[in-house]
Amino acid sequence: MSQKIITIFGATGNQGGSTANAIFNDSSLASKYKVRAITRDPSKPAAKALASKGAELAQADIDNIESVKAAVSGAYGVFAVTNYWETQDKQREIQQGKNVVDACKAEGVKHLIWSTLPHVGKLTNGELSKVEHFESKAEVAEYAAQVKGEMLVSYFMPGYFMQNLTKQFKPDDSGVLTLTLPWNAQNTWVPLLDIQKDTGLFTVGLLEAGSAADGAYVHGVSEWYHPQGFVDELAKVTGKDLKFAEEPASVESIAKIGNKIAEELQENMLLIRDWSYYGKGTEKEQAESDKFLVPGSKKTTWKDFAEKNQWPF
Ligand code: NAP
Repeated sequence: MSQKIITIFGATGNQGGSTANAIFNDSSLASKYKVRAITRDPSKPAAKALASKGAELAQADIDNIESVKAAVSGAYGVFAVTNYWETQDKQREIQQGKNVVDACKAEGVKHLIWSTLPHVGKLTNGELSKVEHFESKAEVAEYAAQVKGEMLVSYFMPGYFMQNLTKQFKPDDSGVLTLTLPWNAQNTWVPLLDIQKDTGLFTVGLLEAGSAADGAYVHGVSEWYHPQGFVDELAKVTGKDLKFAEEPASVESIAKIGNKIAEELQENMLLIRDWSYYGKGTEKEQAESDKFLVPGSKKTTWKDFAEKNQWPF
């Protein structure tokens, strides 16, 4: 049987790279799927590394729909993610996402896996209005649902990257390495995700599920944890004195910061503190999403990640 082509946008980055590796690292998936890795620059080391694992490299820019159409031509499946942080422009990110959806429709792609996030304004009934890098992706998801026709569309919603925490501990006044965020140490549920290892277990699992995954919204979480719990675990693993400090924050205090990105990121933290990121109580529903993991695969625990990650302290 001929291999099914899977076009992967963002293949040189975290989510796309993880999606490609989930295929390369599993011999039965590698024999079934052919990875077409998309980059703007096939000469970069991350692109060459993908080619050395067997990927076909193709050049495309998601700002340019004709190049996106060529990238998805002949593909059975597509995984796509947009990088808000490169442009910090909500409308541009929405257009990039719509380019992917429209190109997949035009080229007859059978299954699109879209990396998205909750629509924070709608989820919080307007209480949090500044988290635009979530809303842009959610608006593309809504658009995809409207225009998809027969195309299967599944939605992967990554949690809080474990990798973010690598750079977030800073010495306090007495020199103790401290993670300071507007979360409650004992009560906030943080949806931790090993973005590089576990993304592909979900995204390729969705691909494998086929029509059973049409319209599915998956919570991409490796392990839900309270801040005090994951800081204590990290202190144990590294043998360092580490501490969590709760920073007071409210919608009103955040509005006074006066910097768009800082306000957006702080509201993002309130989404975790007050709304469990995907909606109140969703930490109890993880099993619904885990049904879509690649069968037989095992997610990373925070303890595994803490032991294997290179910490700067
Ligand atoms: P990443 O590692 O930063 O890599 C970005 C990828 O996007 C690269 O492979 C890049 O490819 C590709 N790309 C960017 N602009 C492109 C364009 N115009 N045309 C084609 N490819 C383009 O990305 P990531 O970490 O997987 O995902 C970033 C997204 O994650 C952000 O939008 C963010 O909102 C979201 N997110 C972050 C968190 C968190 O906790 N940090 C949580 C949930 C979601 P080339 O450079 O090779 O062309």
